[in-house]
Amino acid sequence: MKRVGAHVSIAGGIFNSVLNAAEIGARAFAIFTKNQKQWYAKPIPAEQITKFKKLCAEYKYSADYILPHDSYLINLGHPDKAKLQKSRKAFLEEMQRCEVLNLKMLNFHPGSHLGKISTEECLETISKSVNLALNKTKNVIAVIENTAGQGNNVGYEFEHIARIIQNVEDKNRIGVCLDTCHTFTAGYDLRTEKKYNETIDKFDHIIGLKYLKGMHLNDSKRDIGSKVDRHASLGKGKIGLNCFNYIMNDNRLDNIPLILETPDNNIWADEIKLLYSFILN
Ligand SMILES: [Zn+2]
Ligand SMILES: [Zn+2]
Repeated sequence: MKRVGAHVSIAGGIFNSVLNAAEIGARAFAIFTKNQKQWYAKPIPAEQITKFKKLCAEYKYSADYILPHDSYLINLGHPDKAKLQKSRKAFLEEMQRCEVLNLKMLNFHPGSHLGKISTEECLETISKSVNLALNKTKNVIAVIENTAGQGNNVGYEFEHIARIIQNVEDKNRIGVCLDTCHTFTAGYDLRTEKKYNETIDKFDHIIGLKYLKGMHLNDSKRDIGSKVDRHASLGKGKIGLNCFNYIMNDNRLDNIPLILETPDNNIWADEIKLLYSFILN
């Protein structure tokens, strides 16, 4: 079964995310568990946690289909020791927030070398950061999101992600989230059925589809290979609608959260309906 949803708001309390997801007809959703632009957050009040769990059960959202996203400030490959420590502490706290909510995945952007260390060294630092967080938590899977390669960000080549995974000790608690916009602007084509299949096959060969824990469904304002991360609504960008048709009919992508991060949240319900309408069987 396909599980399409969107990255919904937690305004007014984290439990509201469940209602926001249900309202747009989502079968999966993503959230920030705190303000994504701030380093620290107060613990989630106990009554909010209870309410979140109760609503998830009521609306039948299992943790398999909820993909929290970490703060944009975190850089697990930071070249500066003190700043790396700060990121590692914040990442651990994000993991612990997921645990408290009974969630089992945390989507994160791998990191940036900031022009100060090599890509290789940055990737090794990221693996170490992940190992540290996994050792201090029990159940949450760290889910690496592939990047567009903007600025000094690593993780735009499938080989980068494979390298991070290689150095993670507990392979059962590491996964990947493939963002279609980032994949495309990083240089992997998705516009024809042939190219789409070549890209997914490449992912399978280099990383392994068993690590694929979710996808972000976004069209792209910028062209293939531009290395710029600008999401567009489905069919309004350079990727085009065909790619999303292939995704909806690809059995390899069953039963994982497929999350819209498209810019116009007023049309998410329509985009979700459109995606489901693509399914042929
Ligand atoms: Zn992201
Ligand atoms: Zn994304």
